[in-house]
Amino acid sequence: MQYTTVTSPQKKSISLVAHDNMKDDLLAWCLHFESKLSQHNLYATGTTGTVLADNTNLNITKLISGPLGGDQQIGALITEQKIDMLVFFWDPLEAQPHDPDVKALLRLAAVWNIPVACNQATADFLINSSLFDTEYPKKIPDYENYMNNRI
Ligand code: PGA
Repeated sequence: MQYTTVTSPQKKSISLVAHDNMKDDLLAWCLHFESKLSQHNLYATGTTGTVLADNTNLNITKLISGPLGGDQQIGALITEQKIDMLVFFWDPLEAQPHDPDVKALLRLAAVWNIPVACNQATADFLINSSLFDTEYPKKIPDYENYMNNRI
């Protein structure tokens, strides 16, 4: 794979997802960092987005609920370079009906070099990084080159 460099903007598009047992933890995290998060564009799967919108002052674009396709929607946005960061509190202690979608989302985040926090400690490190509020040049797959080599 050949790579190219793109710039992750200062004002980032951040997706927020939590499985049911983890929603309180994500809400607490969002309340703690509400003023920092409010400087960015926020996306969430349906139920997570409703919980966060009802209990914070954050402006959140709500996608479809995860088990009905919301994780895949976020994966598609990552693929289109429309999401810069993923905070995904998935539940390590309970099986999910949409486990293949969860895996697919994490895979696409890895493919497109998106910073991902799967627990609160990592989310704390991400949001306290100096890169959180600055432009960040990052390597992504060179799609044009990839296609040229296939045809
Ligand atoms: P939800 O989806 O926010 O609609 O609960 C989250 C998920 O399970 O992926």
